[in-house]
Amino acid sequence: MRFIRCEYGYAVLENETVRLLAHEPYSSVEYTGKELPLSEVQLLAPAEPSKIVCIGKNYKAHADEMGEGQPPEPVLFIKPNTCIVGNEDNVVYPDISHRLDFEGELGVVIGKRATKVEKGHAADYIFGYTCLNDVTARDIQKSPTQGTQWTRGKGFDTFCPIGPWIETELDNANANIMTRVNGETKQSSNTGLMTHGVDSLICFITEGMTLLPGDIVATGTPEGIGSMQRGDTVEVEIEGIGILRNHIV
Ligand code: MG
Repeated sequence: MRFIRCEYGYAVLENETVRLLAHEPYSSVEYTGKELPLSEVQLLAPAEPSKIVCIGKNYKAHADEMGEGQPPEPVLFIKPNTCIVGNEDNVVYPDISHRLDFEGELGVVIGKRATKVEKGHAADYIFGYTCLNDVTARDIQKSPTQGTQWTRGKGFDTFCPIGPWIETELDNANANIMTRVNGETKQSSNTGLMTHGVDSLICFITEGMTLLPGDIVATGTPEGIGSMQRGDTVEVEIEGIGILRNHIV
């Protein structure tokens, strides 16, 4: 199933029909009976997370291109929920940055309060999947005076586009993922190449941190990262989900 959020609230998308829901879909799916064509609603970010838990260097080829080697266990950082924007929304290039990068990633949307999840049981806590762009002010993340500033460099407003919707049916260990800038392919990989798979990541995160319904795990970016300029259109596509498109301003 595909779940969206629009100006009328949460909804199920069936072909081109939007079926509105009475409330967010994590505990139960309750239809209001009101239906609209997709062309008559404005898509908003499909989830309203309390936090976005992100994984650094989770594809070997990306760790190699960063020249930093691969960490033995997942490296976690958090983007604040004020980063979230939806499909076709603008990403604002900060005046104080001179290097703004895309990072196409699979976003995992949590459906159930998750604490100390045991190996092999993460699927019970996953609601669905969305495309995500872990937008990064690289020069601020790698501050010459402060060393690493991940939260600052990745935490600007608009730095976490998600969407266009949440897809509940996906093989998270075998999905092609691509990032394009102005139509040119920059990243092309498969989620099967993650070092730590989705189940392992959710177990690792929830050893110490509770994930709430609507929270998102950004599973890391493959190789091919690069910069964006004002005026660019950036797309993250995951086969089986769809295309997340945003504009740099
Ligand atoms: Mg990333």
